[in-house]
Amino acid sequence: MVNLVTGGAGFIGSHLIEKLLLKGEQVICIDNVLTGSEENLNKWNSHPSFKFIKHDIISPIDIKANKIWHLACPASPFFFNKYPITISKTNYLGTLNMLEIASKYKSRFLMASSSSIYGESKSYPQVEEYYGEVNSYGSRSCYEEGKRVAESLCFDYQRIYKTDIRIARIFNTYGPRMKPDDGRVISNFIYQAIQNEALTIYGNGCQTRSFCYIDDLIEGLLILMESNYNKPLNLGNDQELRILDLANLIKSKINPDLKLKFLPLPLDDPLRRKPSIKKALAEINWKPNIKLEEGIIRTIRYFQKILN
Ligand code: UDP
Repeated sequence: MVNLVTGGAGFIGSHLIEKLLLKGEQVICIDNVLTGSEENLNKWNSHPSFKFIKHDIISPIDIKANKIWHLACPASPFFFNKYPITISKTNYLGTLNMLEIASKYKSRFLMASSSSIYGESKSYPQVEEYYGEVNSYGSRSCYEEGKRVAESLCFDYQRIYKTDIRIARIFNTYGPRMKPDDGRVISNFIYQAIQNEALTIYGNGCQTRSFCYIDDLIEGLLILMESNYNKPLNLGNDQELRILDLANLIKSKINPDLKLKFLPLPLDDPLRRKPSIKKALAEINWKPNIKLEEGIIRTIRYFQKILN
């Protein structure tokens, strides 16, 4: 089985590649390493079933694969401000280019969509049937609208060319190989705590997120790809907590004396995010298993290793 993984040098992509190679499959990774890192794949460079192609999927490329895992796109709000136009192009042109290959070679195509498509959701918890509430011109819209147009393209290819699509709506995910400086909340807090700095809370910290450990997510992606389910599916952990409680949890594991520093809440920052994962259980028999505390301890260990 040949797997093409776009964004394979990133956090989620590199974990996926590792799992596929360990299962004995062939993997071709495409990444422009704008926000990913080749170091994430160092271990596999000389593996006979692995090939790395440095390429930006905004430009077309012709590769034959049985399965395409389309993960490429900077995913942190920090990058939404830095590379908004590139992010829109990656989601539109990049997805289009990858769907072209999928329809040409009849590949199965898994789209890494996102909880971001729900925007400032009025549905709680977020169910797949909810159409979302997205600001079309805010600083997050390159990603939120980008993932929406990517989903739209997938369904048009399904309707017109019968492309075999899978749509994973991925909620906040964390774990080893997050970049210490990519601005996500868990990497920020752990990095700050290890450096003995105050933890930066945006707003009053009462906004919520639900965090899924990377191994659980990868398992969900693998099961979804093999399943026959071809509608959007939430993949995430439904253990919801306030950002303030997350800060206190991370402090308690590293240094309870650390201070909190309150900064303004970014515009359009969703206030409550929690996936409904009933469909994932019913349709593909998947649910996350790793508790937040355990995942946080594993992630802290990773950061302590790379930062010391
Ligand atoms: N956040 C925070 N401090 C930080 C980084 C993020 O309080 O140093 C907040 C952010 O405003 C948001 C939540 O944590 O409400 C999750 O942010 P992240 O960037 O990880 O992902 P998002 O879910 O917003 O895409």
